[in-house]
Amino acid sequence: MQRFLVDLMLMRLGRWLRLLGQDVALPKGKSDAELLLQAKKESRTIITRDRGLFQACPGAGVQCVLIRSTAISDQLLEMAKAGVPLRLDPWRCTLCNGRLEVMKTSGTKRWQCSACKKLYWEGGHWKKMESMLHVIRGFLKGV
Ligand SMILES: [Zn+2]
Repeated sequence: MQRFLVDLMLMRLGRWLRLLGQDVALPKGKSDAELLLQAKKESRTIITRDRGLFQACPGAGVQCVLIRSTAISDQLLEMAKAGVPLRLDPWRCTLCNGRLEVMKTSGTKRWQCSACKKLYWEGGHWKKMESMLHVIRGFLKGV
């Protein structure tokens, strides 16, 4: 598992990555310099669509993934190529990046965020996400 810092332009991708079990933080500051400092301090890989920021990363000793696509499915494909496995692995809260804990109840599998208490379960939305990931994995094999 990698630790990421996602650009505010890529919040939606960031929430998806959390569903895939990745540790994804949001920027605390606004400037590129603040982002680079945070990534360095917290040992995170920056994910951005900003070419300028991408080019500043090596100089700051920070890893960076440059996203070129605007569609979420293509962005996920780019992350898969960068080494993120495309399978739902509920480990991180999509809202706050808190750790999820499995709730021991009968029936549907549920998780709860240890920080903000949001509940997650394998419902219809879950199946939609599974099938989208399935389609993207198909593209990956074709490359
Ligand atoms: Zn949470």
